[in-house]
Amino acid sequence: MTNEQTKKCKECQMDIPKKARRCPHCRAKQGIGLGGLILILFLGGSILSVVMSTISDISSTSNTNYDVGTYVPPVREGAFELGTYKVESTEFAYINPKEVNLWQSYSDRKKVGSVKEHAVVEVTAYDEANDYCKVTAGEQTGWTACNWLVKAE
Ligand SMILES: [Zn+2]
Repeated sequence: MTNEQTKKCKECQMDIPKKARRCPHCRAKQGIGLGGLILILFLGGSILSVVMSTISDISSTSNTNYDVGTYVPPVREGAFELGTYKVESTEFAYINPKEVNLWQSYSDRKKVGSVKEHAVVEVTAYDEANDYCKVTAGEQTGWTACNWLVKAE
């Protein structure tokens, strides 16, 4: 089945959003595809210079004016809080089936289960170096990226 909004992750072969820079399943970095590369080559000159000047604007702004218009990536404060979470992400709009794989571990990419969107899971361990969470859902236990999890109310 093909879906124009998704592509295959180079590492884990899962369907991921086409625009994803990092795989939401295994967090592997995704390079620019051949199509993107050709597009960049054709667009060339003027657009590139606009982009470059915008980038230099942003970097000069961020040096002097940190609070305004500076993108700060989300950073977890301290250890991930263990407990009950729900599987939620805007990324589900782009993936099918709407579920997240559970892996043996961050480095051992053996699929040991999967959890669907809105599923309630228990986070029992946290791998801070990789921002990975060990979750239990029913009979299943495995690791997944913590980005998929939202603390249950
Ligand atoms: Zn992946």
